[in-house]
Amino acid sequence: MASDNTANKVQTERARIKDECSQCGLCSNGCAFLAEYTSPAEMAARGISKEDAYSCSLCAKCQALCPLGLNPMGMFQERRVETMQKQELEPEEFNYFMPDCEDNVMNYYRQYYGIDYSNLESDKGSTSYFFPGCTLMTYSPAITREIYNRLRLKQGCGGILTDCCGLPLYQMGLNDRAGKFTNSLVEKITDRGIKSLIAACPNCYYELKARLQPLGVKILTVYEALDFSLGSQTDLPPCTVHDSCPDRMEGKFARQTRNALQNRGYKIVEMSNILQHSPCCGSGGQLSHFRPDLADKLVRDRLTEAENSGAQILASYCMSCVLNFARLESGLKVRHVLNLLLGIDEDYTEVKKRAAEIFVS
Ligand code: SF4
Ligand code: SF4
Repeated sequence: MASDNTANKVQTERARIKDECSQCGLCSNGCAFLAEYTSPAEMAARGISKEDAYSCSLCAKCQALCPLGLNPMGMFQERRVETMQKQELEPEEFNYFMPDCEDNVMNYYRQYYGIDYSNLESDKGSTSYFFPGCTLMTYSPAITREIYNRLRLKQGCGGILTDCCGLPLYQMGLNDRAGKFTNSLVEKITDRGIKSLIAACPNCYYELKARLQPLGVKILTVYEALDFSLGSQTDLPPCTVHDSCPDRMEGKFARQTRNALQNRGYKIVEMSNILQHSPCCGSGGQLSHFRPDLADKLVRDRLTEAENSGAQILASYCMSCVLNFARLESGLKVRHVLNLLLGIDEDYTEVKKRAAEIFVS
């Protein structure tokens, strides 16, 4: 989900919903938040509160499901921007997860646990870089280093960019700060003469594609850049794949990761709601900050769905989803797809606790 909505575009969306929504209920049936209300049309008519705006996880499922091509997510995004413009919320309150603030949680986590990539070799003048994304490079340095080593050997990838793609700023509605952040990232990439970026995270992949592909920078996924089929195994436990929201419309990661897992020897068992119908994991749009009740419900419902599929492993190609599923108890092993493909086993159940420990020590 590239966050390029301007205020005007989203206001138009609210007006469209008010005028055109047939109240068919398809979107509300697929969304725990919308199900709390009569319909998007009713919400558009009475006006969107800031509480509404931040109770939406920006998962885009409503947009994918609407037979009239309407986009309820758009009107909530617009209200987020308006909230920030009218200073109805203090932006400083959210600096702890904002990429343009040095003292954000992920920076602290990496400093506290000594996670650092500055000692990795790089090739001066290389035009191809690895872009792991903040969550993966913070919570799995083992995967990040292994992927980088393989990309250097197989793809001639000569450097690693440890930047954020900027999505959290757009999602919060802080469009001015987000625009500045994006501009400095684009400047850095063009100054270095980078011609291709290999992304591990679906959020980064679609965000970078929207910003940089028009400038001639090629954006690839790690699953198309690397061949994971070597070392195929038998007798692996059944695995189910959670599809992540930013991949909802194109399904690129969904296809590539299932192929890679099958080539590796995993039997995929599917949950009832996959691809465009996949629910949010509960981490989208900073939902766990604003509506922890809804975020927990999304996690619990998805874990139940995964257990009912007969899988022993719940895998996701987005580290934020992995961490969110791993924080509640279940009978499943929750892993990143790359853990399975690389044979690097990691237990993420304690990660959120380890992050909290930083602030009490
Ligand atoms: S974007 Fe997702 S959470 Fe928001 S209204 Fe649409 S379906 Fe519901
Ligand atoms: S799916 Fe579309 S038409 Fe149906 S209730 Fe939702 S926004 Fe309205």
